[in-house]
Amino acid sequence: MADERNVHPDRLRDYVIGVCTSLGSDPAEAGLVADQLVDANLAGHDSHGVGMVPFYVDAVKAGRLFCNRHATVASDRGAVMVIDGNRAFGQVAGFEATTMAIERAASTGVALVGLRDSFHIGRIGHWGEQCARAGMVSIHFVNVAGHAPSVAPHGGADGRFVTNPVCIAIPSRGDTPAALLDMATSVVAMGKVRVSRNKGEQVRQGALLDQDGKATTDPEVMFDDTTGALVAFGEHKGSGLAMMCEILGAALLGGQTIAPHHERDGAALNSMLSFVIDPDALGGRDTLINEAEAFLQYVQASRPRDGFDEVLLPGEPEQRSRAARAAGVPVDGATLAELRVAGMTAGLAEADLAALLD
Ligand code: NAD
Repeated sequence: MADERNVHPDRLRDYVIGVCTSLGSDPAEAGLVADQLVDANLAGHDSHGVGMVPFYVDAVKAGRLFCNRHATVASDRGAVMVIDGNRAFGQVAGFEATTMAIERAASTGVALVGLRDSFHIGRIGHWGEQCARAGMVSIHFVNVAGHAPSVAPHGGADGRFVTNPVCIAIPSRGDTPAALLDMATSVVAMGKVRVSRNKGEQVRQGALLDQDGKATTDPEVMFDDTTGALVAFGEHKGSGLAMMCEILGAALLGGQTIAPHHERDGAALNSMLSFVIDPDALGGRDTLINEAEAFLQYVQASRPRDGFDEVLLPGEPEQRSRAARAAGVPVDGATLAELRVAGMTAGLAEADLAALLD
């Protein structure tokens, strides 16, 4: 696209810090939000990167998201904890809940931690990576509530749940997980539809239904008043997994589900059930890493079939993207315009915005 521009990640980080600070965030909060959003862009997930800022600004202004709130422990039974997200920034509540889960797993061998009703916790792989860096295996089931459903169940024509992500992270001996599966349970994440729309592109076949439940590639069906729906991945299997994310990720914790008796005020509320496991409590970290790496190398050595150049591991596309984008993240013109408006709404001066984004 003609007006797409490469923006250095440090400038994107400064932009997010500037916006959050103008909204009232303290420096630690602004830093956590900026780190996660920009890292999502670096990892190639523009759907969960700085393009979320306009949504966050609107949510703060409308009283759906609150600066400088923190996660609080609602119940603590040793290896099992429930943590309230309190509509804090998800980057804060997610970090605090994941930190508590890691610390607890280090003493109990496993921690089962439910974070409920946080504002949007972004790219779930971020929390898997935090666990993997601490040497832990982690499994996360997540739901999304607070706004209209956007994903149709297998066989259904309209939305009944959201893009409920699942993430599993396996540590390595370094800072990067040996494998990181981090996926929406829809064919594409909702934010990717936003990115396609901003770039003036169609969404891939098989990912969207129009308001009549007919297949379409037009991203507009998710934005006009006559709502379309995303399609759950993997037919009945992915649709079933998405439903289990709702039940495990929220209902089990006392978090808000998408069921219609809950208020939908336009927030993106995430609840997340995390299993954080110290491998030394099971077969041992060295054994896990040796066996996992041997297995993953064996898998990767599979002969590529027609239409493929190679076999990639879960997490590998994100690592490659980080290398490719280290010096500049491509941001399309429509998103840049949205970021400018969001910056001004938050209270940043036009000249400061120009210095960051132009
Ligand atoms: P995706 O389809 O790009 O990737 C899903 C997984 O497949 C990743 O683990 C990736 O490493 C792996 N992968 C991708 N291409 C591959 C290939 N060719 N070979 C092997 N593995 C490959 O991701 P997505 O489903 O579009 O999800 C995007 C992001 O959206 C995720 O980070 C997810 O956590 C996030 N999300 C967040 C929310 C929320 O409410 N917070 C909701 C939905 C999704």
